[in-house]
Amino acid sequence: MNILFFGPNGSGKGTQGAILQKKFNIPHIESGLIFRNNISKGTELGIKAKKYIDRGELVPDDITIPMTLDRLKQPDCAKGWLLDGFPRNVNQARQLDEALAKADLKLDYVIEIVMDRQIAKDRIMGRRLCVNDNNHPNNVFIKAIKPMQKDGKMVCRVCGGELKTRSDDQDEAAIDKRHAIYYDKENGTLAAINYFKDKVKKGQARYRVVELDGRPGVQEVSAELMAKLGI
Ligand code: AMP
Repeated sequence: MNILFFGPNGSGKGTQGAILQKKFNIPHIESGLIFRNNISKGTELGIKAKKYIDRGELVPDDITIPMTLDRLKQPDCAKGWLLDGFPRNVNQARQLDEALAKADLKLDYVIEIVMDRQIAKDRIMGRRLCVNDNNHPNNVFIKAIKPMQKDGKMVCRVCGGELKTRSDDQDEAAIDKRHAIYYDKENGTLAAINYFKDKVKKGQARYRVVELDGRPGVQEVSAELMAKLGI
């Protein structure tokens, strides 16, 4: 089972990807994580990539494309993969498509978590972490999981615990930069998704495109995904 998994930052893509990976028991390949691992090990690739990552820019294609295509050739990918974070632009989409055709590999699903840009931003910036349990959902912008008020202070809606923010969740400029790349229909990630959708429209693809509304809760989105995949 070979899957491409798309969704903007804040859409719950990481959570749904992890659920899907367990279901199919295939490696979850995240281009961002490969870079982070290389940076922490201080490899040549990590050193080259770091300056772009720190600026919130895409790492150039001549580094990213071979790195990702090589990863897909590793033995653990023989029974399939879930690719997340790649492709992020049209050139990456085209080159991945060509590499798969050359290797006689078939793509099974292109999954897209659809979410409006402002909602995705609110979900990131509204997120509050409970100091007692990371899994207690709290978000000041989502009605269903709004924190409680206690003595004029916001507290965890599940246990009444203290709430904190993650500093990178509050970096509005960084969020805007990442979303600008994702929502760019000319050459960004939405353009990469459209590359795969266009092939379906032209009858040139054997894979299925699955679109998911990312707004409901984790369980609901996951149930919709499983239903659409026929699992
Ligand atoms: P992520 O964890 O997916 O948000 O990725 C972290 C960072 O790694 C991104 O902001 C980019 O700088 C870089 N990166 C990850 N995937 C790609 C890609 N497909 N093309 C270029 N840069 C990427």
